[in-house]
Amino acid sequence: MYKILIVEDSRLFSNLLKKEVLSREGLSPVVTESFAATKKILEAGQENFFVALLDINLPDAPQGEVVDLVLGHGVPAIVFTGEFNDELRERMITKKVVDYILKENASSVTQVVSLVERLIRNQSIKVLVVDDSRSARLMVVDLLKIHRFNVLEAADGDQAMEVLVHNPDIRLVLTDYNMPGMDGFELTQQIRKTYDKSQIAVIGLSSYGNNILSARFLKRGANDFITKPFLAEEFFVRVTQNVEIIEYISALKEAAVKDFLTGLPNRRHFMTEGEKLHAQACAGDITLIAAAVDVDFFKKVNDTYGHEAGDQVLKKVAALLARHSGAGNLIARMGGEEFSILLVNKNLASAIAFFERLRSEIQSMDIFHNEHIFHITASFGVCGTLGASLAEMLDRADQKLYNAKEAGRNRVEVAE
Ligand code: GH3
Ligand code: MG
Ligand code: MG
Repeated sequence: MYKILIVEDSRLFSNLLKKEVLSREGLSPVVTESFAATKKILEAGQENFFVALLDINLPDAPQGEVVDLVLGHGVPAIVFTGEFNDELRERMITKKVVDYILKENASSVTQVVSLVERLIRNQSIKVLVVDDSRSARLMVVDLLKIHRFNVLEAADGDQAMEVLVHNPDIRLVLTDYNMPGMDGFELTQQIRKTYDKSQIAVIGLSSYGNNILSARFLKRGANDFITKPFLAEEFFVRVTQNVEIIEYISALKEAAVKDFLTGLPNRRHFMTEGEKLHAQACAGDITLIAAAVDVDFFKKVNDTYGHEAGDQVLKKVAALLARHSGAGNLIARMGGEEFSILLVNKNLASAIAFFERLRSEIQSMDIFHNEHIFHITASFGVCGTLGASLAEMLDRADQKLYNAKEAGRNRVEVAE
């Protein structure tokens, strides 16, 4: 749970904020209405706040004093204000607040809380800052840390490539142009040899008055550029936009291999990854056992309790299968109420025991629907020996599944 401190003397707004915070998973609000109350709660030191949402005009602190108070306790601040002007903006940016947002309507409430979620996600996003000037680098690093990014540094292109080798999960590189050894252009080109724009975003930093630099950065494969000197706001907007594009693309890639309802890998993913395992098994590197699992009389669940109850059954079965099939094995929802499993390096006896255990756990699973509790069963068909192809193994597992259904369901049938 991330604790979010809300300091707001207007009941209307604090209630809106609180409601919005509560509506998001993993966030828990703590509300205070004055500077004094905020001071007390911070000095007590009982709560570990992830971020504070601050009204800067409080009855006992009308000049934004609460911002210094909160930042002084090491809590990042998002400023929520009724009015805005250049002087105020300058003051807030100098204090290094995360952002300031105008208190206008319900959508500004959504905006603030979405920013909080952004900050939470930023913690797991690695950003590499490349600049030979230590002070320039620190300035960028500082800004990124305000937004809670996981920041790495390099003093030139060669060092940057080295850091990338050890951190292939870096998602954003911010690079200066002029550096000794490998410069920003070369670095961008080098990065593009291994990572495309959807894997790592590169933002070039180029000096004002030299706009040919920006164009050349882009031509070499940078996603974006920022002209120095820049405003903190522009910096954050560009960084966030580029990070979000990377996230959208990875969400799309994930959706392509995942089943939407259960979150399990889908048939396509199962076949691609399964073929690789089958090739390894053919080479004698691993052993492979395939199983087909099908919920019994599932149509009846839908007919009796409704489609949503049916969906819930599928999710529960999927979660159970996922929980039990350890790392290295492959499991997927193949469609409808059918699942497939590939077990790696398990002998047939322990594989059968494993499937028997799954069968019995599915049978004893309580499914709650409205006022009722009901139960389901599933049948298993197992192909216990390596086949000429993955498809052939799955066919054999399917035949055994059919046998299990014929023999009365809620059973494991094995082709040895
Ligand atoms: P058997 O014991 O022989 O396997 O019978 P069954 O009723 O489980 O099998 P059948 O193939 O006749 O019916 C499967 C039903 O699953 C039909 C279909 O409407 C339903 N179904 C398929 N996908 C979904 C889904 O995503 N959600 C829900 N709720 N139902 C689904
Ligand atoms: Mg079925
Ligand atoms: Mg079926």
